[in-house]
Amino acid sequence: MGCAVSNAAAMQARRVRHHRSVTWIDTHCHLDAPEFDADRSAVLLRARAAGVNMLVLPAVMAAHFDTVRELAHVHDLAYALGIHPLYVDSAADTDLGRLAEALDRHQADPRLVAVGEIGLDHFVPGLDPARQERFYLAQLKLARVAGLPVILHVRRSADALMSGLRRVEVRGGIAHAFNGSRVQAEAFIGRGFALGFGGALSFDRALQIRRLAADLPGSALVLETDAPDIPPQWLYRTAEQRAAGATSRNEPAELPRIAQTLAALRGQGLQDIAALTAGNARRVLPALDLLMKTQRLRGASGVSGTG
Ligand SMILES: [Zn+2]
Repeated sequence: MGCAVSNAAAMQARRVRHHRSVTWIDTHCHLDAPEFDADRSAVLLRARAAGVNMLVLPAVMAAHFDTVRELAHVHDLAYALGIHPLYVDSAADTDLGRLAEALDRHQADPRLVAVGEIGLDHFVPGLDPARQERFYLAQLKLARVAGLPVILHVRRSADALMSGLRRVEVRGGIAHAFNGSRVQAEAFIGRGFALGFGGALSFDRALQIRRLAADLPGSALVLETDAPDIPPQWLYRTAEQRAAGATSRNEPAELPRIAQTLAALRGQGLQDIAALTAGNARRVLPALDLLMKTQRLRGASGVSGTG
């Protein structure tokens, strides 16, 4: 009896420990965005209180390379360096050289986990498609030289991105805010990519995204907020509401609630989704895996002897 009780207590303790060891990973958060200037520390406190203990901060322009790196170092996070397709038109040609130089200088930085955010945007009008393509291919080559995976921006551009990946092979990565077809999804998965899902999942009308999230193999899914962008349905404000002063800023603390939508779509438990998506993120971003292992060792030595 006493034994059974202590066994039950031990199991309970194990469960609690297991529960506490679950870490949500926000694989895509623009923590450097000006929307967070007023309260960045509070945003991170809320994320950690929600169990979102790791964020990947992709850069969008050369002027922010130092910012995302510093944020990652100050706050024990990870970062990526790249030039976003929506910022290619305002970038200088020499920014590709700045990226090459930064990747070289920081190649031993354990927090640098990918080249990104790079890609192609064929949705926003008025962008120079040839220039986007040139920057995309050049950045794929830099990723290959650095031996890093890539974080891809995909908007109406899945096939064009894929043809770039066939020309310049890289070691996979994440197709972020994925919104292509099942066939396109499988092409990315076949090249070692995971697909990023976030707030868009929470909209009933996002049929294609919800179907993919429900049907794709679990090994293909990672979670992201893209904060401050892509607010989930419960934060969404219409253009009219925004004109009247309402804001709809997304933040990393929303990730577990977004994951509830994914868990419901897949008929899986929330803890399973946490473990699955975190494991996937660590698989496609090997440097992130190493970083989190050393974090855990540091954490373990920090509490040793406290019983
Ligand atoms: Zn982004």
